[in-house]
Amino acid sequence: MGAPSIIERLGILADAAKYDASCASSGTAKRNSKGSAKGIGSTEGMGICHAYAPDGRCISLLKILLTNHCIFDCHYCVNRKSSNVRRARFTPQEVVDLTLSFYRRNYIEGLFLSSGIIKSSNHTMEQLVETARILREEHDFRGYIHLKTIPEADPELVHQAGLYADRVSINVELPTDSGLTRLAPDKDARQIEGAMGKVKNDVIEAKDARKRFRNAPRFAPAGQSTQMIVGADAATDADIVGKASRLYDNFRLRRVYYSAFSPIPDASAVLPLKRPPLIREHRLYQSDWLMRFYGYKPGEVMQATEADGNLPLDIDPKLAWALKFRERFPVDLNCASREEMLRVPGLGVKAVNKILASRRHRTLRLDDVALLTQSITKVRPFICTVDWRPVMLTDRADLRALLAPKQEQFELFTA
Ligand code: SF4
Repeated sequence: MGAPSIIERLGILADAAKYDASCASSGTAKRNSKGSAKGIGSTEGMGICHAYAPDGRCISLLKILLTNHCIFDCHYCVNRKSSNVRRARFTPQEVVDLTLSFYRRNYIEGLFLSSGIIKSSNHTMEQLVETARILREEHDFRGYIHLKTIPEADPELVHQAGLYADRVSINVELPTDSGLTRLAPDKDARQIEGAMGKVKNDVIEAKDARKRFRNAPRFAPAGQSTQMIVGADAATDADIVGKASRLYDNFRLRRVYYSAFSPIPDASAVLPLKRPPLIREHRLYQSDWLMRFYGYKPGEVMQATEADGNLPLDIDPKLAWALKFRERFPVDLNCASREEMLRVPGLGVKAVNKILASRRHRTLRLDDVALLTQSITKVRPFICTVDWRPVMLTDRADLRALLAPKQEQFELFTA
């Protein structure tokens, strides 16, 4: 068999990159108009995914690996050295050419580049940095670049990555150190956190320098992010929430991504046979949101977990917390503080802002609140307005059953 063409390698290396959740656009059905007289487009296109830029825009990225060869043997990874997958490799120049040609055709606005480890961590990191360097210095590429960096590489190489990339990320991989030791024996938790700490300091120093000198170089202006695999080890949601919160505090991360472990072809025997329900990943993102935008402390999110340490799957963590702490409700929307209103299940940040703005001019009625929320049924047991007080509703024993989404809808997420 001859050497694979660039299109074949793109297929292999874009597919190998799909397990990285940090700009996932997965979850839709496969459709393709290729070979048919009817229709246009495909959901199977290789390598283009969507991510959110720091200003909130959704951008399309070419998401690929430089190579899926790897000298490490992380049990959960399809690219590990003992895995029997088809391998491929790009040179930095080939990634540059692909990025520029996709960019000129207006397919993408940037590049997400990761890699398996070839030869050594330093050699791989040099190749990643070289790709970004050619794009920035030789082509004056101004699009978005997200580079996955390798914690075992020389810190100077990681620093160079940050000088070219908008965002850098280092995966912590697993929520607990024991899980990492068991499932990624070549990786070291202290080395990973050491590299994240260095990136944090470089970001801070670059920002300070730019305040003093307008031409000081930028360093990863979109910050750093990380990813944790959920369901490959025995870590509970409480463990994961605790770990995420420490990462946000210690390393000023922009995002922690949660990736539900999915059984891979030729899987290692130490892995679970079944993937966790996808809704578990969704509940973790909701809990992350509660900590970042709703003022919940990690310990409060943990209070929403059940006896097994996991968040309930049938209801969201905000509702789970409210049902456990009913004495905190009902909240009077005509006089409650912003923080109190953000605790009301069914009221989002935008709705709370609108309530605060409109109650300056008028006294709120239940119908006014209904206009601001998707489900007034969910909100009613937890609020008072001038014409509504829930009386016994807040304390009903069957309130959870009344408010849980209908089973048919739930199954859409778990499929
Ligand atoms: S280092 Fe581990 S997670 Fe990364 S590509 Fe290699 S085997 Fe996969």
